[in-house]
Amino acid sequence: MLGGTFDPVHLGHLRSALELLEVLQLDRVHMVPAKVPPLRDTPQVTPEERLTLLQLGIGDTPGLVADPRELERDGPSYSADTLASLRREYGDQARLVMALGHDAFLRLADWHSPQRLFELAHLVVIDRPGCEAPLTTALAELIEGREVFSPGALMRRPAGGLLRLALPTRLSISATEIRRRLASNRSVRFLLPEAVEGRILDNLLYRRR
Ligand code: ATP
Repeated sequence: MLGGTFDPVHLGHLRSALELLEVLQLDRVHMVPAKVPPLRDTPQVTPEERLTLLQLGIGDTPGLVADPRELERDGPSYSADTLASLRREYGDQARLVMALGHDAFLRLADWHSPQRLFELAHLVVIDRPGCEAPLTTALAELIEGREVFSPGALMRRPAGGLLRLALPTRLSISATEIRRRLASNRSVRFLLPEAVEGRILDNLLYRRR
C-alpha cells in the first residue's frame, strides 16, 4: 500500500510505486488516496477528483491499482484501518507492505495507532531528496528492533519489519510545488502524467480562487 493525499498525483508517486513493485517483488501496489487526511489541512480538491486523477495517472500500468477504499469510510482516513482491511482481504499469511516517503516517516509517531501498523504490515521508507532530518526519540523507540537491511529480509514474515530503501530513481517532485505552480499559472509539464495535467488544466483545478 502507498497511501497519500495525491493532491495531485505526480511522477514522484508513480515512479516510486513502480520501483517498489520491482525491488520488493510485490504482486501489486494499492495506491490509496486519503478521504480526510488526519494530519494536514483539507485538500482544495475533492477526494473523488483526486481519485480520478490517480486513475488517469496510473492508466493501464500493470501492478498499480487506484484503490478507493478510504473514500468509502467516514471519519479520518487512518492507515491502520486501511491495512486492516487489506489484511482481511489477503489473509494472515500474505506479506503486506506499507510504503511511505521519508518526510511522512519522520512524523510516524504522531499517527493513529503507530504500533498497530507494524502488527499489520512491514513499513518501507522511501528515501526522498531533501528529507534527512534526525529521528525523534518517540520514533526511534517505535522502530526499535524492527529494522532490516535488505528486501529479502521482509520475505520471511508477513509483517513487523522496517526497511529504509533508496529506490533507483529519486525525484524531488512534490504536490505542494505543483499546486504552487498551477496557482500562479506556471507550467507543470513533465512533473505529472500528461493525462493528469490535461484534466487539471481543462477543469481549472488548483487555480487561485
Ligand atoms: P504535499 O507536497 O502536498 O505534501 P506529496 O508530494 O508529499 O504532497 P503525498 O500525497 O503527501 O504527496 O505523498 C504520498 C506518499 O508519497 C508519502 O508517503 C510521500 O512521502 C510519498 N512521496 C511523495 N512524493 C514523493 C517523491 N517525489 N518520491 C518519493 N516518495 C514521494
